[in-house]
Amino acid sequence: MSVYQVSCPARTLILDEEDRLLQDGGLEPEPALWCMLEAGHSGLHLTLAQALRGGDGVPPVTLWLRWAEGAEYDSRREILPLPPCPERFLAGTVQEDACGLPEGHPGRHGFEFGPPISEADITPGWLL
Ligand SMILES: [Zn+2]
Ligand SMILES: [Zn+2]
Repeated sequence: MSVYQVSCPARTLILDEEDRLLQDGGLEPEPALWCMLEAGHSGLHLTLAQALRGGDGVPPVTLWLRWAEGAEYDSRREILPLPPCPERFLAGTVQEDACGLPEGHPGRHGFEFGPPISEADITPGWLL
């Protein structure tokens, strides 16, 4: 672990109505969430809200919570499914690691500034 703040310090809360939507997924819903992007990024803040298991022809989906600086709860706030960033760290080796952020995210890839969540936070069998 780095002692430096490397991910974005912005933070938001899961609202009660959103919490109901986010039950029954692979992640335990966190009431308070930190932005997962690199510090100083452009655009909206973004954090992982939930991972939903696919099945019956439905692919697994990762839900992201997106909000604007200083306007955590205005109309730009939304929860939406986003495809994963395709970049891999050390692809093809045992140290291979996924970025963990959505495709097209601003800032560096997740593996370049430290993972905000560890594998221990994810139930085996859930795809991100
Ligand atoms: Zn942010
Ligand atoms: Zn990436």
